[in-house]
Amino acid sequence: MYNACMECIEFSGQRNEGGYGYIPYADGVYMAHRMAWMLHNGKAIPKGKVVMHSCDNQGCINPVHLSLGTMKDNTQDMISKGRADHVIHSGRPVTITPEDIVAIDVLRKQGISVINACKQVGMSRHTYYNKSTRGFNS
Ligand SMILES: [Zn+2]
Repeated sequence: MYNACMECIEFSGQRNEGGYGYIPYADGVYMAHRMAWMLHNGKAIPKGKVVMHSCDNQGCINPVHLSLGTMKDNTQDMISKGRADHVIHSGRPVTITPEDIVAIDVLRKQGISVINACKQVGMSRHTYYNKSTRGFNS
């Protein structure tokens, strides 16, 4: 299903608010680009790492465009590319974007607690629960 073509491969399934493709599974969802990375590389994404798009196309699942980074890399990448619509003061986003919610969801999928995930993204848990449209069991 993969080729070396440098064109984006658009995920044809469902998209979340942040524009990321996802696949509903069991009691949660898998992020399509993360699945693409794992399938291509044949291993799980290390804890604490995020899969970044070099093409800035959140719906793209071309593994050639996907690379591992940390949440910090990802934020800096967004800022350097002018994608972030918020300014970060002392690591805390001033406004919350759907991408922040996605970032926390991504961390939670890696087994990181809500508290620590919110800390890494710089959002209060209260805000997260208010903004998240998914609903949680815990
Ligand atoms: Zn792409």
